[in-house]
Amino acid sequence: MSAPVEVDVAIAGGGMVGASLALALQGSGLAVALIEGHAPDAAAQPSFDERTTAIGNGSRAVFEALGAWPRMRAEAGVIRAIHVSDAGRFGFARLVAAEQGLEAFGYVLPNRAIGRALWQGLAATPQLALYMPARLIEARSLDSHASLAIERGDGTRATVHARLLVAADGAQSTVRAALGLPSHVEDYGQVAVVANLAADRPHDGTAYERFTPVGPLALLPLADGSYTVVWARTPDDAAQALAMPEAQFLAGLQRRFGWRAGRFVRVGRRHGYPLALTRSDATHAPRAVLIGNAAQALHPVAGQGFNLGLRDAATLAECLVEARRGGGDPGGEALLARFAALRAADRSGVTRFTDGLVKLFRDERPGVGALRDLGLLLFDLAPPAKRALARVSWGFAGRLPRLARGLDLADRSGTPP
Ligand SMILES: Cc1cc2nc3c(=O)[nH]c(=O)nc-3n(C[C@H](O)[C@H](O)[C@H](O)COP(=O)(O)OP(=O)(O)OC[C@H]3O[C@@H](n4cnc5c(N)ncnc54)[C@H](O)[C@@H]3O)c2cc1C
Repeated sequence: MSAPVEVDVAIAGGGMVGASLALALQGSGLAVALIEGHAPDAAAQPSFDERTTAIGNGSRAVFEALGAWPRMRAEAGVIRAIHVSDAGRFGFARLVAAEQGLEAFGYVLPNRAIGRALWQGLAATPQLALYMPARLIEARSLDSHASLAIERGDGTRATVHARLLVAADGAQSTVRAALGLPSHVEDYGQVAVVANLAADRPHDGTAYERFTPVGPLALLPLADGSYTVVWARTPDDAAQALAMPEAQFLAGLQRRFGWRAGRFVRVGRRHGYPLALTRSDATHAPRAVLIGNAAQALHPVAGQGFNLGLRDAATLAECLVEARRGGGDPGGEALLARFAALRAADRSGVTRFTDGLVKLFRDERPGVGALRDLGLLLFDLAPPAKRALARVSWGFAGRLPRLARGLDLADRSGTPP
């Protein structure tokens, strides 16, 4: 094995969040290494797979600031309205972006399009030390640096010493385990069945969230006029839904969803994703920090997981660029503490909101359904509540990262939107 490679920042995981961070650090002057198990267009790539991701306006602003948005814009479905309902009950709410002074609540992008756009940007970063396909197999945090053992796809090994190790390696984070950071997993007892879905008429830009007795069901509008369906169900139900003939799946979906999006005529290949809330107790250790799903992996019901992880990446990039400018240590305790403080409110707010939503609409105790109806009705009638929810498309709580405000990392002058 050759001598260790010395870098300022090593990012373990080049999925949606890790690749975004690497791109945000482009041109920062920091020496960066990126370690990723799979090429972005590989069939086995777990982040840039066949799913789609709903991103809010804040995430779009980050992608714009990173120069990636023009490369994905054409593939983005636009969410102009959101319709929320409770199956079998009268309550529903409808939010219209134009009524909130917004062009859109957000955009729906194929994960593969996000991967292509981010990695095309990274291809223009010759100074990036890229290990791909390669796996981080061991990590130790020492006083002055973190030491990483890496195994490349061809079986050869490398050692990297980084002043800061960033874990962006997903919910089953190897870094988190190697550093002994405890995490909690709460299994929701649900599997999300995900597929592309065509109706007999194109959508009008409405995203639907329907809470059914077997789990929440979302229809997200795609750029080509069809939808992505994300339907969380019990594991047994999901196994059947994944295996049943297309006509039977469409009939069951139509029965649960109703007719407001037209008649469902075709469904693409179905994939299943077991759902759990995974939360790390501590999101940093000496010389190491967790971001994205490595720090918190959420239920997809409110489409917040990636948006939250991207704000982690954007805030961390901002802290690192500030430290570099001021001659600070990129992996020092001061930076890690500042990053944790900046992210605390957003992280806990989004996690509680998402978890609460899953549990509220699963609750079948007498009277709870009627309360939900009342809640949806009041929400539908209350402009301030709608305005508050519209703000979620920018961020949840706490300070918005500069990149999400459309500012570059060098400019200190802007104010939040
Ligand atoms: C069905 C479903 C629908 C969703 N929809 C939305 C949505 O609409 N909006 C939204 O905001 N969020 C959504 N999410 C959440 C979103 O997918 C995640 O928050 C996001 O993928 C997190 O990105 P990440 O980069 O942190 O982790 P991951 O996507 O898990 O990526 C981790 C990366 O690390 C690599 N890796 C792992 N271990 C190693 C190792 N040891 N060495 C090297 N590389 C490694 C992997 O190959 C991968 O590329 C959804 C999730 C699900 C399951």
